[in-house]
Amino acid sequence: MHFQLDTDAEKFRDGVREHLQRTLTPEFEERVYRSGVAHDDDFAKSLVDAGYFAPSWPAEYGGQDRDAWTEQILKEELMRFDAPVYLSETTRMVASIIRHIGSPALKDRILAGALKGDITIALGFTEPECGSDVAAAATKAVRHGDDWIINGSKMFTTNGHIADYVFLLARTNPDKPKHKGLTMFLVPRDVDGFEAQAVWTLSGERTNITFYNDVRIGDEWRIGDVDAGWQVLGLSLQDEHASGWGPHIARLLHHAENWARQADGTDGRPRIDDPDVRRRITRVAMETEISMLLQRRCVWMTETGSVPVAEGPMSKVFSTEALVRASQDVAELAGPDGVRSYLEPSAPEEGRFDHTLRFALGTTIYAGTSEVQRSIIAQRGLGLPR
Ligand SMILES: Cc1cc2nc3c(=O)[nH]c(=O)nc-3n(C[C@H](O)[C@H](O)[C@H](O)COP(=O)(O)OP(=O)(O)OC[C@H]3O[C@@H](n4cnc5c(N)ncnc54)[C@H](O)[C@@H]3O)c2cc1C
Repeated sequence: MHFQLDTDAEKFRDGVREHLQRTLTPEFEERVYRSGVAHDDDFAKSLVDAGYFAPSWPAEYGGQDRDAWTEQILKEELMRFDAPVYLSETTRMVASIIRHIGSPALKDRILAGALKGDITIALGFTEPECGSDVAAAATKAVRHGDDWIINGSKMFTTNGHIADYVFLLARTNPDKPKHKGLTMFLVPRDVDGFEAQAVWTLSGERTNITFYNDVRIGDEWRIGDVDAGWQVLGLSLQDEHASGWGPHIARLLHHAENWARQADGTDGRPRIDDPDVRRRITRVAMETEISMLLQRRCVWMTETGSVPVAEGPMSKVFSTEALVRASQDVAELAGPDGVRSYLEPSAPEEGRFDHTLRFALGTTIYAGTSEVQRSIIAQRGLGLPR
């Protein structure tokens, strides 16, 4: 097993970096932050035009038939630059499901547009009363001839106010056991009866509560078989559970080192000379490395034909909790200045310490909380009883 990049992959990475340095200007970064929305249509299209949107997809769908390593390098760079790609990621995740199990008509309608950045899709799984126990979803879809009538609400439908569609989990059979009465739909955002209301997170991100009030959609918007939504959902959750946040820690490390070299301590010497500063920065560096390796191990497993069932959650838990630890460590080093707000010119590293501190907590919640991920590791990885 080795994780070094070959010359071709390095060239690809350098191209991505150059593109991101050019497009993610400070003005752009500020605009995205102030809106709270991790998406920008023009930026997404710039990735499509440069071949950095879905490089591992087959060329017939607009990809470049590249391997999973190329996709990984792209993900790492996008995260290291904090690029606003959340909606592009959820779109690709759902497009991938449609590619595998969608009807021919749905493939025709969605795939080309999604891969060009013209169609976007948000995820509608979580509800006000259930998140981790997603199979307890109560939002109902009832069949009426060739149509379905949907009623209910979803919590944390991030980008649900701008996406073209919501990939919705709905209960279609209340009489079956909870995992067996669910179906997945693609709900167009412009249907009558759909509404998105803003919910703001601790780090200033906008997410939404979405309402479905007698929303009527045709059966052509169903993805997978009726009552087989749990299996369909499993395809997307597996992708989400295998996420790694090492590049975010690398970004923080870069700013922490920068700050420590420039800031002076009370004795007039640079903070980087202080043993406590060095100790903490070294710890952040080590945890960056471990996070990157855990994630790359998942890619290696996928590339060599195995499924990272427990290794994906290990990568997610370790890297998100390492990001929390690192952001707390670094903010403490910087003292009261460390919690001056994001983009404030007088704050150390323009307030990125404070922003990371607040942002990091959410990463341990979405895409499966740390507790839920630990249960998966214990049961599926170690074979422990429920
Ligand atoms: C910023 C943000 C964006 C999000 N975006 C989306 C999105 O786009 N689409 C979407 O569908 N959802 C989204 N989510 C929702 C996210 O997936 C859920 O918040 C998450 O699954 C947890 O669900 P919950 O909030 O209902 O908490 P709960 O499930 O109520 O959990 C509360 C606490 O109990 C613990 N807990 C729950 N069950 C167990 C268990 N079995 N064993 C041990 N501990 C347990 C949890 O770990 C947590 O600490 C987002 C969330 C956030 C914060």
